[in-house]
Amino acid sequence: MENDDKYYQQVANELKAVGPNEALWLKAFASANADKEKAKALYIKLRVEQLIAVDVQKRKNELIAAELEKHKPKTNYTIKCPQCHSVELIAVASVRNPSSYKSFKITYNSFLGRIKFNCNKCGKIFTIYTQLLE
Ligand SMILES: [Zn+2]
Repeated sequence: MENDDKYYQQVANELKAVGPNEALWLKAFASANADKEKAKALYIKLRVEQLIAVDVQKRKNELIAAELEKHKPKTNYTIKCPQCHSVELIAVASVRNPSSYKSFKITYNSFLGRIKFNCNKCGKIFTIYTQLLE
């Protein structure tokens, strides 16, 4: 089991700053048969469990989001000028429809799957094959 000190610390901070959560306190108080000292101990235990559950759920959500991100269809290409190394993100849609893109001048040869870029910064003209775009 992982170190749960931080959760106890968080409960201590909460109790100092805003006091106990009312609903949870009543639950603890009832479960402890109105014994205040027992209720306090139980409240802390229940609150720590809540905080751990929230953290676990948060981590699960992050993993799911990362997994979804991996399988998301690509919306941007990263294009790096070989001469001045300026980097631009270019929308996949604008590569297919170059006239919609203003910063780099693009010529798309769909037959060869080749894009010609004219770097806005240094003027270098360079070619990239769409299969190699990431
Ligand atoms: Zn350049």
